[in-house]
Amino acid sequence: MRLCPNCRNVLRVTGDSCEACSWEPQQHEGIPIYLSNSDQTDGSFVDYVNNYKNLSEADLQQEIVDGAYLANQAAKLITYLGTDRFVSILEVGVGQGFLLRKLKEKYDSARITAVDISIPFLKYVKSTVDVECLAANAENLPFKEEFDLVVASDILEHVINPIDFLLSVNTALMPDGLMALRVPFEDNMLQYSRLLGSKYKFAHLRNFSKRNLSLILSQAGFQIERIHYDGYYLYRRRTLFKEGGGKRILESLLKRKYPSDNDVSKIPNWLGRALMKPLEIVVIARKKRIITSMNDAS
Ligand SMILES: [Zn+2]
Repeated sequence: MRLCPNCRNVLRVTGDSCEACSWEPQQHEGIPIYLSNSDQTDGSFVDYVNNYKNLSEADLQQEIVDGAYLANQAAKLITYLGTDRFVSILEVGVGQGFLLRKLKEKYDSARITAVDISIPFLKYVKSTVDVECLAANAENLPFKEEFDLVVASDILEHVINPIDFLLSVNTALMPDGLMALRVPFEDNMLQYSRLLGSKYKFAHLRNFSKRNLSLILSQAGFQIERIHYDGYYLYRRRTLFKEGGGKRILESLLKRKYPSDNDVSKIPNWLGRALMKPLEIVVIARKKRIITSMNDAS
């Protein structure tokens, strides 16, 4: 079901105005926009959206993160979904669509919906893959029990209110639906400091360990089924391999198999984790509870 982003009532017809509050979806360059009235006018949210518009335009012109690395990471994440069949899939925060194209390949008969806050990204994605695209706030997704899989890769560190994002995904999922979530693992926050020269006002707003991620997922009604550590770069090598013999062994071992630094992320996770500190953590979690009040914490 499609929800009104303004009052969270069910919209009787997709694409129609809300009978309860008269909200109407807007269109921008062919992309439907599902933003509440307050998101459309609130100065700080407009600022947040503009930040991502600038970031996505820069990313489309000149990659901020290497494309080969993103493609490797997308391929790995797809394998973590296993052999389950999914009929309706939502990807929140599609970016340039590396993962979305892989989802489309693997689940070609599924109905796939792509959501982002950036219109430039959505326009680009729409031109490369045949899926439904719409602009929405990840903290207020306009869906109720519509998907059996929601994928959100590198999103939770960007949203302003993480619990609203997770509750919104919980609502969008059918009972027992699956969420695949990837976030940076024990990220170095200094690189996002405005005081130290970070260019963007909003980038990664927090970092994650297994412990704090597990806690917030449980509070949002999810049960973790699997955890994968991945995202390997040589600059995150473990102390033993930083200098001397350890350094030489690591480099000769890896350079032979992965000549480009961006391909090091193709390494099997068990070996990568022994040699380097992972950059990312992927959690496969199932919706177990519906959360409707502040007293629903487990
Ligand atoms: Zn409404």
